Amino acid sequence: MSFRLKEAVFKVRCREPGCPFDPEIVVKENLMGATEADIDSEALKIARNMGFIKHDALYGRKHALENPEVAKVTGSYVQLGTGPAAPVAAFAAAPSVPTRAYRPGEVILHKGESAVTVCEVVRGSAHNEKLPEMVYRAGSTFGAAAIFRQKNRLADIVAGAEGATIAFYNLRELSKTNPSKARELYDEAMEDIFHVVQHLEEHTDALEKQVKRLQAAQAAKKKPAPKPKAKPKAKPRAKAKAKPKKKAAAKKR
Ligand SMILES: [Zn+2]
Repeated sequence: MSFRLKEAVFKVRCREPGCPFDPEIVVKENLMGATEADIDSEALKIARNMGFIKHDALYGRKHALENPEVAKVTGSYVQLGTGPAAPVAAFAAAPSVPTRAYRPGEVILHKGESAVTVCEVVRGSAHNEKLPEMVYRAGSTFGAAAIFRQKNRLADIVAGAEGATIAFYNLRELSKTNPSKARELYDEAMEDIFHVVQHLEEHTDALEKQVKRLQAAQAAKKKPAPKPKAKPKAKPRAKAKAKPKKKAAAKKR
């Protein structure tokens, strides 16, 4: 006999004096366990991780969420038939990493947000809104700003046409629990930085060439320009002299 989580709600409170952070966090991950308590302990970890992400997005600049108070509010479960123990094994192997599904075009990372997590595409695809030709498919990593201390997201990253499921890894936490996975994500995120830089360099080269072409075209157009420029300067003076004559002529009439 085993159970599957339908939905669990947790309160994650920041203990920093004066911090208003105390949201209800809903966990809907497909968690399975031999008992409801097993599921709860896994769901609680997910809620806690989501709390870190949320707190950092809101108050990350003021202070970090340290040792938050996490309490279960409600939980509902589905009882599964007495099948093989496979689901339990699958559950035990699954990392307790917050994941979220996004609709096509939905923003996954907002430019300027403080960065704590590196993102891995689990399903679907995602791309940098400014560089739509650079697509992150299942298995690829983005969000490298989180590697560095107190860096903000550099770009909007949005879900692709088929939507995206994204896993959010806190590398500092992961390096304690799963160093090899942390290393893999770190390397991939660094590689992504180089891809972006390379892509931008190519883009810059193309732009420079375009600018040169435009400048050349404009220079060709401007060549006859110096002559008309000289004339307008002389004209107003001539007119100024001419006007009084006309007025004088009008007065005589
Ligand atoms: Zn706080």
